[in-house]
Amino acid sequence: MSEKSELAVTRILEGNLGVHMNGRSLPGEGPHIDLISPMTGTALGSLAEASTAQLDAAVGHARQAFASGPWARDAAYRAGVLRRLAEAVEADAEVIAHLDAVEAGKVFAGSVSEDVPDVVANLRFFADLLAREEGRFLQDDSGWGWVRKVPVGVVGVVLPWNFPIAMLGWKVAPALAAGNALVLKPSEDSVLSALHFAQLATEAGVPDGIINVLTGTGPSIGQAMGLHSGIDVLTFTGSGPTGRSFLESSARSNLKKVSLELGGRAGYIVDSEYASDYATIAADIAGAAFGQSGQNCTASSRTMFIGDDTEYAHFREALVAATASITVGDPFADGTDMGPVINAKAHQRITSWIDEAIERGASVVNDRVEVPSQGYWVPPTILEGVPGESELGRGEIFGPLTQLLRMTSREEAVSAINDEPYGLASTVWCEDLATVKWWADQIRVGTLAINGYSEGTVATPFGGMRESGFWGRDNGPEALETYQESMTVWIAQS
Ligand code: NAD
Repeated sequence: MSEKSELAVTRILEGNLGVHMNGRSLPGEGPHIDLISPMTGTALGSLAEASTAQLDAAVGHARQAFASGPWARDAAYRAGVLRRLAEAVEADAEVIAHLDAVEAGKVFAGSVSEDVPDVVANLRFFADLLAREEGRFLQDDSGWGWVRKVPVGVVGVVLPWNFPIAMLGWKVAPALAAGNALVLKPSEDSVLSALHFAQLATEAGVPDGIINVLTGTGPSIGQAMGLHSGIDVLTFTGSGPTGRSFLESSARSNLKKVSLELGGRAGYIVDSEYASDYATIAADIAGAAFGQSGQNCTASSRTMFIGDDTEYAHFREALVAATASITVGDPFADGTDMGPVINAKAHQRITSWIDEAIERGASVVNDRVEVPSQGYWVPPTILEGVPGESELGRGEIFGPLTQLLRMTSREEAVSAINDEPYGLASTVWCEDLATVKWWADQIRVGTLAINGYSEGTVATPFGGMRESGFWGRDNGPEALETYQESMTVWIAQS
């Protein structure tokens, strides 16, 4: 552990600094929450969560900072601050990755090379976009005017634990760029990097009150944010039931706009007519299914193969070999591909779903590696013959597992994707451009990756169709729109 990373952890934990409000880090006034290491199942320390009075205060500071001062009105100023913040995050990449590794079990090297750069790219992308923002001018006999995009005001951000800093970047960068003030609640399973980020933001010149971070559980602070009438837009990434509860809370309070990025059951389709390099494809699937311990809304939890028995046998063998090469272990060790799953509840759910599928007739295809008994570890698993009526056959596993499915035709694979309530992402391996167009016309998901698992880039919108999302998008210019209102200014002709 570097000295700087150690200091970042002790500053927050020993100071009990679970709240960052109006430019200052301070203790929460609610009950203590233990921060549990998923590697060992033991507590790293504890933090007092924010009280609802502190939530009210944070919303008040956000409103005040939004309404007064240059933040909401001066795009060039905001762009400059966002660029400085990007530099600060870049300089602290290892510290931030360390915080996500100790608390959420994320692979340190992957966070340094992907998650933190993703945040930096978001901050820079939206800073650049501000320079190109322009209104629409119109005139007729009655007068003239313009349609402008204005910030919504106070944005509530509720985050999951699977990509603590990257999901924060996806929400915070466009919401800040649009000129809003934020009240943010990280998942109670991953608070440290958000609290550290807030401190960096203050040091980089984000005005006091523009970023407020509150430690808290879902049922306490999360729910209170959903019901808070001082929050104008609530942006959320997490599970479907929580997302639905935010829609209900909006209806019961101030009709705040609610943007939801929810779960997925991504398919990875291999069409043997146009795919032959099974070793390459299998390695890509292993990364997409087991990377991040499968705790990714776009994880390839269903591998669909179209082809005859001989081709299927070759492909299956390649997938088993690729899975065997996944290194499970200490997130800080060189060469580790995946660490533990997040917590005892997730561990219990994943293992019980696998057991249930096996009891109902599914079979394990690969030799599952041994994992530590302490902490929350699940080995990479490939299952065949998962019954449709089992939990695994219907639900989002969110663990290191892919089920192998034989498909008799492309149409059958398309139905397996489109007939799901989820419509977030899928991948097709198909080395024929004309056929790629066919797939793109047929499959209904927010992100369709071709010839390699991908979630797109900072410049491409990310979000789900059907029950995988509601309203807004992360990434791309579309994300900015989530945090803006259209306003018409009409000047009458006298
Ligand atoms: P979760 O819904 O349990 O928790 C997410 C956040 O919501 C946490 O901050 C939690 O404290 C809060 N929360 C929980 N209950 C709440 C309540 N009743 N009221 C208000 N807030 C509440 O989800 P999770 O387990 O942290 O995350 C995993 C889920 O997130 C998976 O379903 C996954 O697919 C989804 N996810 C989606 C995307 C995407 O972009 N579509 C990305 C990452 C994760």
